[in-house]
Amino acid sequence: MIDPSRGLDQIADVLLQDGTVAAVGAGLGAPDGAEVRDVRDRVVAPGLVDVHVHLREPGNEDVETIASGARAAAAGGFTAVCAMPNTDPVTDNQAAVGFIVRQSARAALTRVYPIGAISVGQRGERLSEFGEMVGAGAVAVSDDGKPVASSHLMRTALEYARTFEIPVADHCEDPLLAAGGVMHEGLVSTRLGLKGIPAAAEEIMVGRDVLLARLTGGHVHLCHMSTRGSAELIRRAKEQGTRVTAEVTPHHLALTDAACERYDTHAKINPPLREAADVAALRQALKDGVIDCIASDHAPHAYDAKEAAFDDAPFGIIGLETAFGVAHTELVVGGSLSLPELLHRMSTAPAAAFRLPGGTLKPGAAADVVVLDVAARWSVAPATFFSKSRNTPFEGRMLTGRAVLTIVGGTVAHQAEAPARS
Ligand SMILES: [Zn+2]
Repeated sequence: MIDPSRGLDQIADVLLQDGTVAAVGAGLGAPDGAEVRDVRDRVVAPGLVDVHVHLREPGNEDVETIASGARAAAAGGFTAVCAMPNTDPVTDNQAAVGFIVRQSARAALTRVYPIGAISVGQRGERLSEFGEMVGAGAVAVSDDGKPVASSHLMRTALEYARTFEIPVADHCEDPLLAAGGVMHEGLVSTRLGLKGIPAAAEEIMVGRDVLLARLTGGHVHLCHMSTRGSAELIRRAKEQGTRVTAEVTPHHLALTDAACERYDTHAKINPPLREAADVAALRQALKDGVIDCIASDHAPHAYDAKEAAFDDAPFGIIGLETAFGVAHTELVVGGSLSLPELLHRMSTAPAAAFRLPGGTLKPGAAADVVVLDVAARWSVAPATFFSKSRNTPFEGRMLTGRAVLTIVGGTVAHQAEAPARS
């Protein structure tokens, strides 16, 4: 049993009762009528938490729904995810937020927390009604998919959000500097003849956002950090006491722009895959807590859309069902993080960043639990995904570690068949 929230890593029993963690400790007896699961040789941890997913409902239910996304999340070991508001229509008001909450309750799987849009229609002009959205269940605001181009709007968003103690999550990209780019600007983009997005396009916005967080006292959360320069800016901002948190995706920790070599559109991501030195810096920043958490940026797209030419294909890949396996293989098996450190970055820290329940097995907490087989070797087979989409760059990749049991509020949301070992 590993509980990063209390620094526990021990052999123990975990007793779940009435939807909450009742007790954790060695040699707990089973009360009468209790269902006993022997998970010897497995790791029991607080359920994983993902603060950045795109579930496409309403508007694009053919590629994902709240129910299919929640099912994929459960399969990936997640007990809570935060849904970005770039749906169609945009989740920018009380009723739209309420719809996500109701669909999540109906699915009764992994908890789906709505994120409301910063601006009406995500048009970057006028702030949406944060108070009403928070009242309906929104846990953060974001215009993700797009940056908040106006520094003035970002300032007022941070001031307004501070009243409700919610983070403003920004997709950091200078839109004019990044315009037309399809991959990282560097040697590989030059060789391939593709238009690049310079690292500075992200770093300019990271710099601006931490300055505005400092100015307003608001909490800025920086989405999907991809460059070593961003990591440096966040490190300095945190040293100065700025209220900033940040996330990195498994793919930015695992892949470089070399993945674009064959014009594989499954390597077309925004922000783009960067260079080996960026990957190394992001891993170090995650270990140091400069970057707080791992988030998947699960972004389903239709097969046909991703079959287009590299220049025309949409940005984004799915990630809920590979996030733990990729992160565990690359970081823990790879030797840069310990398992408790990884679980901290995928459960306790993201829950804390967005002030969500979860991320702990403390008695009294919700019974949101994952059981992991960290020795399981498995090959990524998109055809078996619960997600409605298949756009992953990890197809065929051998990974080590997966969720075998996911429990949300005391109810089983996912149970794997006996994992294949090889
Ligand atoms: Zn984004």
